[in-house]
Amino acid sequence: MNSTCTLDSVKTKSEYLNDVINIAMAKNPNEPEFLQAVKEVLSSLEPVILKHEAEYKELALLERVIEPERIITFRVPWIDDNGKARVNRGFRVQFNGTLGPYKGGLRFHPTVNQSIMKFLGFEQIFKNALTGLPIGGGKGGSDFDPKGKSDNEIMRFCQSFMTELQKHIGQDVDVPAGDIGVGAREIGFLFGQYRRIKNNYEAGVLTGKGLDYGGSLARKEATGYGLIYFMREMLKANGLELKGKTVIISGSGNVAIYACEKALSYGANVVAMSDSNGCVYDKDGIKLDIVKEIKEVKRGRIKEYLEKVPSAKYMENNGEVPAVYTIKADVVLPCATQNDINLSSAKILVENGAKAVGEGANMPCTNDAVEYFLKNKVLVAPGKAANAGGVATSALEMCQNSMRYFWSFDEVDKKLDGIMTNIFAQTKKAAEEYGYGNNYVAGANIAAFRKIAKAMKSQGLI
Ligand code: NDP
Repeated sequence: MNSTCTLDSVKTKSEYLNDVINIAMAKNPNEPEFLQAVKEVLSSLEPVILKHEAEYKELALLERVIEPERIITFRVPWIDDNGKARVNRGFRVQFNGTLGPYKGGLRFHPTVNQSIMKFLGFEQIFKNALTGLPIGGGKGGSDFDPKGKSDNEIMRFCQSFMTELQKHIGQDVDVPAGDIGVGAREIGFLFGQYRRIKNNYEAGVLTGKGLDYGGSLARKEATGYGLIYFMREMLKANGLELKGKTVIISGSGNVAIYACEKALSYGANVVAMSDSNGCVYDKDGIKLDIVKEIKEVKRGRIKEYLEKVPSAKYMENNGEVPAVYTIKADVVLPCATQNDINLSSAKILVENGAKAVGEGANMPCTNDAVEYFLKNKVLVAPGKAANAGGVATSALEMCQNSMRYFWSFDEVDKKLDGIMTNIFAQTKKAAEEYGYGNNYVAGANIAAFRKIAKAMKSQGLI
């Protein structure tokens, strides 16, 4: 999705905050997604900044929070199945290591560029802080498109990508994981190449590994399950529950599939899922086994659902509102990509009676869409809090790797539930403390920022 919110300057009551936002805009003019994320976070911090303005200004704290510690860009040459040489661009943004080794996924998608890498890395700092686990923020990836590539092409690409990336990562330095286009297959090839070059079994250098070589049970499910645990808490705090609610989900990848699974287990009726071409609408309830077979086994298109369920309807995307958002639902779970819900989609969803939006993806709603939801009393579970279950379980995977031990599925799932419940509690508390009511978008930003600011202050001017 390319439509971002308007990039006009934001005016707050803090002169320092306004200056920093203007600096960000002047320094990063060609990075709309990054600026969108910076403005969304910084503007919601207004009451915190006003309280500590002189101190933060003296420490140049906000200027440092928005500047990555390091950005690595590199060439990734590889040979396709026809023997043709190809070249992609690789990235790793090591944004903020104050709380622990940089941690964040790798995305392989043709839209990847520096702006997208920086917005994801920036969001990751706050998300990781909310988990309460010792992990800093980072992100990486490549503009490589895995769609339609053979397993051998994927392997050759991953080996070339890791040949450079290995110089910059390590289990106490920077620990990548998966994201869009990077699942267990890719992590396996990346880990193999890392091990071969380093001649060292450093299991904690990557997370999302296969279960037979150091992966954690429940990591695959964690982001989607975590989203639903957060949603459960948010609904409960507002006198609602998932049971009996109609749910629509954008995407049909890792996050979408396991959000669907957990929502079904709470008695919700999931009626639609999508991919980048369009969505399937099954008013009798999505049969998740069929979606898993199409996406996890065949790597096919969501349209193929109709071959198994002819009574379902397929709606192709055309125009600025993705087809899935035209379907009536109580709970909306955007689990595909950034800026998937713009203001036009938000208006339709509100008109159709949406009560809550849970961001499984990173920044799936434009800033004006979020504002519109909040103005219309739609609860919003912000991505950096609601989808933190993936990275939290990655940190649990690192923990198990260090102990050379494994927890059972239930043990990991219980810890995940506890972490998500705690993230919601922190988010709610911060929102209430600073007069934001049930605006959990602001609450999450404030709760995370306070932790990061305190630790950055302790570590001096670095
Ligand atoms: P997957 O690659 O498994 O799935 C991505 C899904 O989103 C696919 O259905 C894909 O459809 C769709 N999609 C991707 N790009 C676009 C696009 N430009 N327009 C429309 N649809 C698109 O990725 P994940 O499920 O892992 O990630 C989904 C989101 O969740 C991302 O925003 C990611 O950053 C975020 N996230 C993921 C975590 C994880 O643990 N995996 C953790 C926290 C956040 P198609 O096949 O047609 O491309």
